[in-house]
Amino acid sequence: MVKQYDYLVVGAGLFGSIFAREATDRGKRVLVIDRRNHIAGNVYTRDVGGIHVHEYGPHIFHTSQEYIWNYVTRFAAFNNFTLRTKASYGGRLYSLPINLYTMHQIWPDVITPADAIAKLASEVRPNPNPANLEEHMLAQVGPTLYEMFVKGYTEKQWGRSATQLPASIIKRLPVRLTMNDRYFHDSHRWEGIPIGGYTKLVENMLVGIEVKLGIDYLKDRVQLNELAHKVVYSGPIDAFFDYAEGHLEYRSLRFETEERAGDYQGNAIINYTESSVPYTRIVEHKHFEFKDTEHTVITREFPAAYTGSNEPYYPVNDAINNAIFDRYRERTASVTNVIFGGRLASYRYYDMDMTVGNALTQVEKEFGAGMEFALKKPLRK
Ligand SMILES: Cc1cc2nc3c(=O)[nH]c(=O)nc-3n(C[C@H](O)[C@H](O)[C@H](O)COP(=O)(O)OP(=O)(O)OC[C@H]3O[C@@H](n4cnc5c(N)ncnc54)[C@H](O)[C@@H]3O)c2cc1C
Repeated sequence: MVKQYDYLVVGAGLFGSIFAREATDRGKRVLVIDRRNHIAGNVYTRDVGGIHVHEYGPHIFHTSQEYIWNYVTRFAAFNNFTLRTKASYGGRLYSLPINLYTMHQIWPDVITPADAIAKLASEVRPNPNPANLEEHMLAQVGPTLYEMFVKGYTEKQWGRSATQLPASIIKRLPVRLTMNDRYFHDSHRWEGIPIGGYTKLVENMLVGIEVKLGIDYLKDRVQLNELAHKVVYSGPIDAFFDYAEGHLEYRSLRFETEERAGDYQGNAIINYTESSVPYTRIVEHKHFEFKDTEHTVITREFPAAYTGSNEPYYPVNDAINNAIFDRYRERTASVTNVIFGGRLASYRYYDMDMTVGNALTQVEKEFGAGMEFALKKPLRK
């Protein structure tokens, strides 16, 4: 039977859209489908009176890899936003990530890096064999910083007491002995927000490619498979195999978004680190784009259990879930004509740059020439 397409791409997120772009640019016939009614997956931004609202959580593009930056900037110009989050605790604001100025705010006598080293040495509670996250953190930074910035936030995020969480969740809490308050590591030289929003960026990736929305691949896979020689699947891996090896666990989120007048908090993100506040952060979207509008849009982010009917956001990569995932990965070897990729099929937390890297790697595996070809194309702005 003659197939209408070479590739059926399931998922119009970053992974699927990049694969679709690269396949199309190599002369392949591609159809992209998504079960949602919009493109861009979790990086989708909705335009609310000129403010681009990050519907699935705040997204800041950052990377240490020049080829990835060169790739994404083909599809949009980026502004020079750099993330500088603050923490709200006990009604006061603190500098984050924990740095010399944070310590000065807590202990005014701490003024120099040497003061900070001495203070931390007096705070920590050495423990060669910490049994859980709490003991691990007390050994690393001591009770004050742990209580203020880690305990409440992490317990909300994971829905469990820190004494029941493994130490491995936060291997090393960065404590800076300088005043550097840039959120991402300095090796991530490239950072910014696409001007016009992420939806526009993905729209530019999909120029000239057929996209059908509101179609769930798994509900109609027999007929959909008939359409193309190969499927590129970026949905949940356990759902692809009808949960034959069990359900993979995730944490979910719930967002409460409201429009207001003026400027709510003067910063893009403020974390609420104490347990008595039910949300973990407030995002004020216009600050990602330096917008000086009379209105504003804010979103409160509440961690939530994953029920199967809400969105799977953060994979719970503990030993049990990783073992289940390994069994799914083994199953993929026997599935011909399906390429798996993206955060859900890989059961990994991927930052956007890692998703781009993952997509370009799959492109290279499939077509041979990868990055070189992708980067030679003219800018699409
Ligand atoms: C709260 C949060 C904040 C984040 N912030 C940042 C950040 O600041 N910086 C950063 O670099 N990264 C961030 N990320 C990571 C970023 O969201 C991911 O790297 C990226 O969205 C992954 O793209 P993807 O294409 O793999 O997946 P997705 O964007 O999830 O796309 C997969 C698509 O597949 C569709 N789909 C699934 N199943 C089916 C099906 N059966 N049929 C049809 N369609 C289907 C889905 O509807 C979805 O649109 C954040 C992630 C989260 C959870």
